[in-house]
Amino acid sequence: MKIISSVSELEIFLSKASKDKSLGFVPTMGALHQGHISLVEKAISQNDMSLCSIFVNPTQFNDAKDLEKYPNQLDADLTLLEKTGCDVVFTPSKTEIYPEGFAGKSYDFGNLDKVMEGETRPGHFEGVALVVSRLFDIIRPQKAYFGEKDFQQLAIIRSLANQNYKSIEIIPCPILREVDGLAMSSRNLLLSEKHRTAAPRVYQRLLHVKKQANTKSISELKQWIAQEFKQDPDLKLEYFEISDPNRLQKSTQWSDYEVHIACIAVFAGSVRLIDNILLEMN
Ligand code: AMP
Repeated sequence: MKIISSVSELEIFLSKASKDKSLGFVPTMGALHQGHISLVEKAISQNDMSLCSIFVNPTQFNDAKDLEKYPNQLDADLTLLEKTGCDVVFTPSKTEIYPEGFAGKSYDFGNLDKVMEGETRPGHFEGVALVVSRLFDIIRPQKAYFGEKDFQQLAIIRSLANQNYKSIEIIPCPILREVDGLAMSSRNLLLSEKHRTAAPRVYQRLLHVKKQANTKSISELKQWIAQEFKQDPDLKLEYFEISDPNRLQKSTQWSDYEVHIACIAVFAGSVRLIDNILLEMN
């Protein structure tokens, strides 16, 4: 496994090594878990060469404390990637990604960055678009892999690719969960014992919503979620929305769309967790 930290070295390496080879790219912020590894495995199976980047992108953090405490375990990450069979790992510094005078393009994402994460984390998606477009410009992969865990981010990346990177195919990957249902996340490492015990209730409540979707109205289910979290001493609801999965327009009734996406953000102590579930109408 080749480990490269400089942009110029990576560009030279790729211009030689990936000639006539398909390249699959998995961007991450490290503290890798099986969710990330499932993306890397998919990239390995669908391409001649796989590349995983590890970069904790400061521009997508709207909260300085969140950035400060973001887990960092590079040695363990590299061991895991080596064992998985990843070909190249890119571990750039901040100045490699954002050299002095660097200015990214700005994009119009329509409604996609105005709701949910866009509303509660101002500037977050500008930061995501900035880093992903910089990485796409450097790496120029044929395929790039993104998890459905970050459903809204995936919608933004699809739009970004559609606007500026038509040659890159965006491959969505399903959410990997712990045995108790909690969506795997690097932030789970930061949960206290009490909050780790409480956290699976987020997914249990999403499952309840899915089960009730054909018998209860959207507003009844939103009220039910609000009530459940109000009574929960360890989990604080930030938002719960049911929307159309393509444009993320809020759904008002089930007949609005054939499929809806229910997205949630919750604080477990100071740790912010997000999750989502697809609701198919029958
Ligand atoms: P992150 O390191 O949190 O920026 O995540 C890197 C990529 O891994 C993103 O495309 C995430 O959506 C994806 N990812 C994170 N957690 C999971 C999970 N539990 N299942 C599937 N993909 C995930």
